[in-house]
Formats: sequence, C-alpha cells, structure tokens
Amino acid sequence: MNLKQALAHARGVLADNNIDDASLEGELLLRHVLGINRTRLYLDLEVDLSPAHEETMRQLFERRLRGEPSAYITGHREFFGLDFHVEHNVLIPRPESELLVEKAISLARNRPISIVADIGTGCGSIAVSLALNIHEAKIYATDVSAAALEVARVNCCKHEVIDRICLLQGDMLEPLPEPVDLIVANLPYVREVELPRSGPLSFEPVLALNGGPDGLAGINSLCYQAGSKLRPGGCILLEIGQGQAKAVTDLFGQIFPSSQIEVTNDLAGIERVVSLCLT
Ligand code: GLN
Repeated sequence: MNLKQALAHARGVLADNNIDDASLEGELLLRHVLGINRTRLYLDLEVDLSPAHEETMRQLFERRLRGEPSAYITGHREFFGLDFHVEHNVLIPRPESELLVEKAISLARNRPISIVADIGTGCGSIAVSLALNIHEAKIYATDVSAAALEVARVNCCKHEVIDRICLLQGDMLEPLPEPVDLIVANLPYVREVELPRSGPLSFEPVLALNGGPDGLAGINSLCYQAGSKLRPGGCILLEIGQGQAKAVTDLFGQIFPSSQIEVTNDLAGIERVVSLCLT
C-alpha cells in the first residue's frame, strides 16, 4: 500500500464509522504514524508504507474507532492558532474556549490588566494564549491536578512563556498569593447525571468535566472566593454550559451588586461566556 492508498483507506474507515471531519482526521492520524508534515505527505504519495507503519496505523485506528479522541492519540491539539501538547489527564482544548481568550484580550485593551489568573488551567492552553497576547501581564495558572500542571508546564516551555506564567497547585483561587485584575476560568460545568459513560467525552478526565448536581459547583465556589482575590475594577470571565447563563448572572449580581455583567454567545449561538467587571 502506498501513501495515497493509505490516506484514502484512513479517510474511508473514519467516514464509514461516522466520524466527523473524517478527511482531516484521517490525514492527521496518518501523518502522526509517519511523523511527517503535510507537504512531505503530498510529495511522497507514491512511496510505499512500511509493514511497521502499516501495523502502527492499524492499532491507532482501532483506538480511534473505539472512541478515543485523536488529540489523545497524537498528543496534540490546536487552540487559538497554537499547537498544544495534551495527555489523558487534561481536557482537550475546545474551539468555543477561544472566546474566553478573545474576551480577555479585548478587556486588556480597554483596562489596565497587569495580573491575570487562569483557574483550572488544565493543559495551559488559555494561560499560554493569554501570555502571548497580553504581553505585559503576569499570569497565575492554577489547577488541583498536579498531573495537569505538568502538562501545562510542557506547554509553557514549548511556547517560551514559562518565565511569565506561575503554575500553582490548589483548589480554585486559594493558591493565589495576591489579588488579580482578571480571573479567567473554564471550570468543570457538566451536570453529574450528564457525564458521558461512552463516546469521546468518556476518555476525558471526570475532574475537568464534573460540575456536580447542577453543573455549577465549581463556578459557585469560585464566585464566593473571588471577592477577596479581585483588585478594584477587576474582572471575571467564565466559560459556561448551555442554559447556565441565568444562574451565573444571578449569582454574580448577588455577590457583586455594583458590577457590569455581560453574556456572550459562541459561534454556535450558545451563551458561552459570562463576564463581570467591578465598577
Ligand atoms: N465544553 C465541554 C464539553 O464539551 C465541557 C467543559 C467543561 O466542563 N468545562 O462538554
């Protein structure tokens, strides 16, 4: 089998199993097996696949067809135009979380933001994207999971922002050594009963998804801790799940009566980010 046939086979197998973006994923997985970039693949289409590569490809597609997300198989996921290393102990960055980063960058254009905290940083995709786009800010990135912080460290080093991001282990805002101007968080917000038992989401860490009975356990506890960790005029940006906007804006309004609160929809039209700025 040459690479052209392998590519067609890879795409066909994924499409037959109703995997979205079968064409893109098929190419991605094949390139991962071969350890080559896109240009090399298209230059080498007539080259034969070695028996060892053929066997690796077979094993890897077996994993994919059992539901494992390709980001865990390849160890990579793109977020905000950057390549991030991912492992099973971190959530795979989602395109909708780019909205959090965009909102944070636009806030930083309009207000003095010199200290930022990314709470529940996971693989560090949000913290790294912020460090590369809000140049003067010092960033704290926290997570309860030591294993996740190790992955975040790899990404901070890979993107050369390790000197700008202070990684701290601990629950919510507790590890922050000082109040900050901006808190950004994509906390677990899936309702416990809705946690998947099969499919791609079931491969992701429950710790990063489980938001308790109403999905809002983490968000609640962050909001109650935030008063003492925000500097005057500070802001909070939270990613939320579908249908959670009212509960979160009500909570914000209760805890911070003099603040500006706003909800922003993602590209799918779902209310995705709630922002609060102290006035
Ligand atoms: N957006 C994730 C999902 O795909 C949930 C992430 C989270 O709980 N923060 O359901």
